[in-house]
Amino acid sequence: MAMNVFLLTSLLYEKNYHPITIPRNLWGKGKSLVNNNLCMPPQEEGEANTVCAVDDPSHNMIVATAGGQATCSGHGYYVGNNVSPSQPALNGGFCKCHACFTDHNCSTLVSDCVLNLDHGDPTMFESFWIENAQKSAIVILGWQLMSYFADVGNVCWFLEPELAKEIRSLHSLVGNAVTKGRHLVVGTGSTQLFQAALYALSPPGRSKPTNVISAAPYYSSYPVVTDYLKSEIYRWAGDAWMYKQTSNEDYYIELVTSPNNPDGFTREAVVNGSGPVIYDLAYYWPHYTPITAPADQDLMLFTVSKSTGHAGSRIGWAIVKDLEVAKKMTKYIELNTIGVSKDSQLRATRILHSVSSSYAGESIFDRQGDSSTGQEHRVFHHGSALMSERWNSLRDAVSLNRRFTLPVFEPGFCTFFRRHTTPRPAFAWLKCEGKEDEDCEKLLKSNRIISRSGRHFGAPQTYVRLSIIDRNQTFNLLLDRLSTIH
Ligand code: PMP
Repeated sequence: MAMNVFLLTSLLYEKNYHPITIPRNLWGKGKSLVNNNLCMPPQEEGEANTVCAVDDPSHNMIVATAGGQATCSGHGYYVGNNVSPSQPALNGGFCKCHACFTDHNCSTLVSDCVLNLDHGDPTMFESFWIENAQKSAIVILGWQLMSYFADVGNVCWFLEPELAKEIRSLHSLVGNAVTKGRHLVVGTGSTQLFQAALYALSPPGRSKPTNVISAAPYYSSYPVVTDYLKSEIYRWAGDAWMYKQTSNEDYYIELVTSPNNPDGFTREAVVNGSGPVIYDLAYYWPHYTPITAPADQDLMLFTVSKSTGHAGSRIGWAIVKDLEVAKKMTKYIELNTIGVSKDSQLRATRILHSVSSSYAGESIFDRQGDSSTGQEHRVFHHGSALMSERWNSLRDAVSLNRRFTLPVFEPGFCTFFRRHTTPRPAFAWLKCEGKEDEDCEKLLKSNRIISRSGRHFGAPQTYVRLSIIDRNQTFNLLLDRLSTIH
């Protein structure tokens, strides 16, 4: 059997197929192996994919379809017919090029293109998952995951128990959050959970809405997400520093992002009054910041968007101490979307499992060494090496130029890597220093770089936020541009 797996895998790679592994029981009851362990040609007229499958020794199925990332010069996605991935135009397939690339196979760089670094789109992780495609793939068959319900005995009845298990074991591996004895609530991204938390923590029946505050510079989505439905139970009340000085602590909810978006610094609550605090820990992972202790706050939010880069799956989770708060958050999601996509939950389960299993059997001392980005199968090592490289080259590019400065971070001891690491945030909080550059966003725009102005974060417009978790090519173009603005 092992020989069959080897033969099939080599054959698939040779043919530019991308094999994936799925649990045997997902393949379908009573379905026999395809063509005695080899490839199944298209079954129906018009069906392009050849599917290959084989039982592996651990009773998983290795299934593969042709085509994928090896095409489009590494600068685009191959879309459509998979028969001839090396010549995309044949048989109706085509290349959808990433930003700044063009041509039928995305091989031409448009060097004066506009670089959009406004959003924190985590496409930097794509190359890691291409290298680790096999262990992170899932196949969902038509009859699976059809019910609304996942775990009716649990507070969060739509949370898949396998996902809950993987979330708890990943936090225990990384040491970044306490989950024992805590309730988990899954959400359509942590954005939905943030709204569910506001709903759950705002006391009903008050004459005035609860004030929602966060210390500036705060994550720019907080004000807009809080106010877009003009809720009667909560409203955005701005900078927590100002609130602390000017209010007599009327009922409030404080939002703390740590490490902070946009500036990357570690944070605590600033008001320290009677109001509840929502801790948004989207970036409390070892590739961005030293993990100093397991976080153990009353309500903490996490997301796959920034931990593994799977923003498109829209999966986040809340770790909640209080049962009643967890119940109300669950109620919000029930009323809002009747649960959370099970397809996405299954994918997140697979991804988190592959992250944890890449560290299985390792002693914590094995984690200490430096790693390089190529061939690395451990996501935090890969991410950490890549982010360090990026911050070093970003600082070099900015130092060539007196017009900009970047925040400076102190190293801290990371209990996950067992060594000191320096924060390497997902965003560069860039300050324009020139007297003539009061509007930093405008200066960058004139150099074809789209950034997000400090004013969206409750900060001066001499600051901008730039995403540095985009693809390599985009990041390298950013470096070129920044170093040539004089
Ligand atoms: N919180 C913070 C601090 C973020 O930066 C982001 C993404 N930009 C989110 C939450 C949103 O996460 P999700 O994709 O899970 O909704």
